[in-house]
Amino acid sequence: MRTRKVLAACAGLLLAVLAAGCGKNGSPPVKGPKAGELPVYKVDTGFRLPDSRTWTQAKKRGYLRVGAKEDQPYLGEKDPATGVYSGFDIEIARMMAASLGFDPKTIRFRTIASANRETALQNGQIDYYVGTYTINDMRKKLVGFAGPYYMAGQGLLVRTDEDDIHGPQDLAGKTVCSAAGSTPYQRIAADYPKAKLVAYDTYSICVDNLLTFQVDAVTTDDAILLGFAAKAPDEMKVVGKPFSEEPYGIGVPRSDNALRLALDDALEANEKNGNWKKAFEATLGLSGTPAPKPPPIDRYPAN
Ligand code: GLU
Repeated sequence: MRTRKVLAACAGLLLAVLAAGCGKNGSPPVKGPKAGELPVYKVDTGFRLPDSRTWTQAKKRGYLRVGAKEDQPYLGEKDPATGVYSGFDIEIARMMAASLGFDPKTIRFRTIASANRETALQNGQIDYYVGTYTINDMRKKLVGFAGPYYMAGQGLLVRTDEDDIHGPQDLAGKTVCSAAGSTPYQRIAADYPKAKLVAYDTYSICVDNLLTFQVDAVTTDDAILLGFAAKAPDEMKVVGKPFSEEPYGIGVPRSDNALRLALDDALEANEKNGNWKKAFEATLGLSGTPAPKPPPIDRYPAN
């Protein structure tokens, strides 16, 4: 019990250290996206998309409003000091902006939690959303999706001293944390009803709860979990094999097919010209995953 308390106290300190972006004394600094290695996206100044209401309004306004995550290592992170967003999803958002004729520097990012993405797109609070957003048929009734631009899979994050949990079949009686409104949450609720499932707005709150022994495991996409584990490898590990397919898409307003198809074209062009791979290697690649071949783009008919 005593060790647990000490560990719990250390967890808070560890998070403070992580937030400051520095390692323990004498240890190498925590790896993170390095601005210098990121590709520069050429702005397509002649681009026009009059059939898209979203694009036309953004042009009038002069900048894009993009929804993202702010606490997912190597995917979507916001520097608390500068307010600058970085990560693979952020790079996807930036390369899309350049293809749509907007300088990526002018994007106004807005953090939106998993449970609030559909409403944000439906209410027109954002022009598009890039943040580990799984494409599925249920969501397609509410929003549109360009892509996919990456294929993730559901996994489990536990403390390094955990020996009992190797896959979702071991979750019976264990407390497992995920984000409200997410597909991993829904899968545990439906397929593993013996797990004690708790939900928070974000995965970083789940990770805090894991480090302070409030929960036994965190579940979401491997891409997200590997980022948290890479930042604190002494405290946490990802276990087992991915047990779902989570194709990441760019969320757009459902009726804006012109924007969706333009983003499909832009993704394809950036995969061909090497920007996608470069962006991956400078961001998500740093959590230990080599750049995969991007999944085929699904230009589905307007529904
Ligand atoms: N990809 C999953 C989802 O869209 C989990 C990650 C997230 O919550 O953003 O629900």
